[in-house]
Parts: sequence; structure tokens; C-alpha cells
Amino acid sequence: MTWRPRLPGIAEMSQEVRDGAVSPSLFARRSVEAIRQDDRGELSLHAFLSVLDDRELDALGDGPRVGRLAGVPIAIKDNLATLGLPTTCGSRILEGYRSGYEATVVRRLREAGAIIIGKTNMDEFGMGSSTEHSAFGPTRNPRDLNRVPGGSSGGSAAAVAAGLVPAALGSDTGGSVRQPASLCGVVGIKPTYGRVSRYGLVAFASSLDQVGTLARTVEDAAVLLEVISGWDPRDSTTAEHGAMDAVTAGDVRGASGLVVGVPSEHFRDTLDASIRDLCVRALGRLEGLGAEVRPVSLPHAEYAIPAYYIIAPAEASSNLARYDGVRYGLRVVDEPSVRALHETTRSEGLGAEVKRRILLGTYVLSAGYHEAYYGRAQRVRGLIRRDFDTVFGTGVDLIFTPTSPTTAFRLGERLRDPVKMYLSDVFTVSANLAGIPALSLPIGEVGGLPVGGQLLGPRWSEPKLIRAAMALESSLGSGGAR
Ligand code: GLN
Repeated sequence: MTWRPRLPGIAEMSQEVRDGAVSPSLFARRSVEAIRQDDRGELSLHAFLSVLDDRELDALGDGPRVGRLAGVPIAIKDNLATLGLPTTCGSRILEGYRSGYEATVVRRLREAGAIIIGKTNMDEFGMGSSTEHSAFGPTRNPRDLNRVPGGSSGGSAAAVAAGLVPAALGSDTGGSVRQPASLCGVVGIKPTYGRVSRYGLVAFASSLDQVGTLARTVEDAAVLLEVISGWDPRDSTTAEHGAMDAVTAGDVRGASGLVVGVPSEHFRDTLDASIRDLCVRALGRLEGLGAEVRPVSLPHAEYAIPAYYIIAPAEASSNLARYDGVRYGLRVVDEPSVRALHETTRSEGLGAEVKRRILLGTYVLSAGYHEAYYGRAQRVRGLIRRDFDTVFGTGVDLIFTPTSPTTAFRLGERLRDPVKMYLSDVFTVSANLAGIPALSLPIGEVGGLPVGGQLLGPRWSEPKLIRAAMALESSLGSGGAR
């Protein structure tokens, strides 16, 4: 991967298209050409699982020149249903599957003039933190090709970080937008549960899943979120007031007057010293911008990972029951009975991590164990949510934490140790359990690798989160380098 263009941002790109300065398909063609060039390389990023072909690019013709995203090429995680491109979720069981309908978020992007140029690689069904659990091979981190991009939206994060597209959609069940954003040095937003429609998002753990956005700047990630947010009659969990007002880069209030809480539980002695230093520096900048920084406590934070790894697999085991060899994708035929057809199809079509989750999930839901595991995890979830309510109830506007305990790790490093892989999400899963919004932005580098800082806020506080993040970004410089 040597091709690293200086792509303009969403606003400039779409303005050029609306002005008629360039053909509406120009930026999409450039994206696709860059992706092909990367594919030809010896060590390719492999950020995409499918991309528009020449015929499809030609069919864009001299398309419309209207909309906030006019002519802007956008990449979509492969668990969002799209017309015209396959939707595989990084799984053999859905290899070649083409959806007959489109996700609401994808439709909204198109209505705003965006061009969906391809589908990005991911851990199978969103289960993982490195994109190494994709059935179609891993994605590499553009910052260091021997390292993972994070996951499960690793393809989307790598595509943005490499400048192949200005922005992308991902999904975040326990950190899958924020953690790869952090490891690749880009911005990622996980919205409030209910702000963005899940219609057409292939379900992993329905009470935790949200579609999120990735971009190089806070502004671009926010613009994409504004376009996709809002009530959807096709998803009853979306809120009527879910649509987001425009947050402009020129908002002079910045971080001034905000109270930022720093939870002691996320800054223990075990935290890597260089990551801590960057967090301290970022907090100093927020203070310099007029924010008040205050210590806070989230006493149940340490139970977030155990609770998540009961609740998420429980929901997944139920959601994934639909891949039975009859209704979707892969079917292993020549079996003597329907039961054998189910068994062989699922044995061959699902990967090891997905099977591990299904086993875990069915176990914790089984009669006799249900209360001991699932019931207790649900109660812990309630306590985690209450911790946040308590902190936000005392005048704290936002909370600041690291996004990930480490920088990008080497390919293969955590593959044989699932628990180590699960711990990649210690700082991110709580936001999903509580349903609150969270944003990761680059706050600097350690050993040449990006480090992300995470801002969390109460439900529906995205405008405030984004405003604070924009102020911090302009103080630190894009990439957090200043
Ligand atoms: N890494 C976490 C998991 O494997 C979170 C994944 C996600 O957010 N989709 O479950």
C-alpha cells in the first residue's frame, strides 16, 4: 500500500460535484482505482470484500449533482444490506448472498447523493476485535501492514485511514467502530441506541448493535451521522426524536464550560504509561479550551466485559439460528435429513469464533443456568447503566477514557487467546450496555502507532460530544499530532 492520496473532505468533494466542477462519478472512480491498485500490491490491505465493477461505474453516468453527499464515495461494512453488492458479514455461510432490499442507512446515504463504492471486510458477524475472524482473510492496518486494523469494522477503518474513501459506515456492538478507529488513527462514532435505524443491519446482539460512522475528521463523521440518523418506521427501536441537528465546525462554544469526568477505574496503574500520558495531555487541552476536568467513579466498570460476554453471545445464539442452510446463502446438499442438512451447513459455513459464541450463548440461556448467568448479567447491565446516570446526574457533561488499552497489535498475536482478544474492548463495551453515545478520536501516537481517546455522554448528547471532539481535534491537530 503506497497510494495515500490527500483526499478532500466530504464538504469540499460534494461542493465540487454540486458546482459542476467535476463529473459526479469522478471521486467514486478514483476510489475504486485506488482499491484495485492496493489489491494488486504484494501486501494488500484487503479492506474490501466487494467493489463496484466498470460496468456499474459506467452506469453511474453523469448522475445527479444534488445532495449533501453529492458524488461522495462511501464504504459500507459488509453486514449492512445493499442492493447491487453482496452482503456476506465476512462469513462463508453468506458467501455470494445478495439481499433483496437495502438497509435504511444505506438508502439515506444514497438519497443524500452518496455513491456506495464497496463493502468492507469484517470479523465474521461482527465477532472480533482484529478483523482476523473474517472467513475471507484479514485486513491489514495501513499504518503498519504487519498489524491488525482492529475490529470488527476493521475494513471500514483501514479504508478511511488509507484514504481510499473519505468516510465509511461500521457497526458497534461492543466497540467495533471505536476500537478500529483508534487503532487506525481515524474518528469513529457510536450513536445513542435508537438514534440510527438497524433495519437491514444483520443482527449480532440486537439490544447492543448500533450503526456508526468512521471518517478522518470529527466533522465528516458527524455529517454522515446526521444523514443516517432519525426515526424509521421499519425499526421500532428508533426514537421519534432520533434525527440529529447539524453540528457545525464553526460552533464557537467548543469545549468551554463543559464538565469532563475522568473515571478512576479506567486509569488504573495497569494502564500503559504512554497511553495514559496522551490521555493526560488531551485532558490538559480540554482544560485549556475552558472545560473543567473532574475525577469520577464508575464502580461497576470491571464487570462490563463479563456481562457483555454473556449478553452478546446469548442474543447472538438466537439471532444466528436463522442460518440453517434453507433460508439464506450456503446449503450443503446430499444430506439424508433436514437435521443433517442444518448440521453440516452450519459446521462448514460458520467459523470457530462464531461457533464459540453460539455455544456460550446457548449454555448461558439453558434451563437451570439461565438465572445464574443471563439473569445476573442483565442485573449487572442495570448497575452499569446506573453508574453513568449517577455521574451524569451530578453535573458532569462528558466522560473521557482511552478507547483501547493498547495500540494496534501484530497479526496473529491474539488469535489463540480469545480472552486477550475480548479484553481489547474493556473501555468500549460499557457504552453499548448503557445505550449511550461514544466517540473515539486520535489523540497522538506511541511508537508510530495511533492512540484514540474516547468521549462518552448521556443518551442523545451527540451534539455536545461532537462539539467537544471538534474543539479537541483542532487543538491536537488531525491525527492528534500537535
Ligand atoms: N469485539 C467485540 C466482540 O467481539 C465487539 C464486537 C462488535 O462491536 N461488533 O463481540
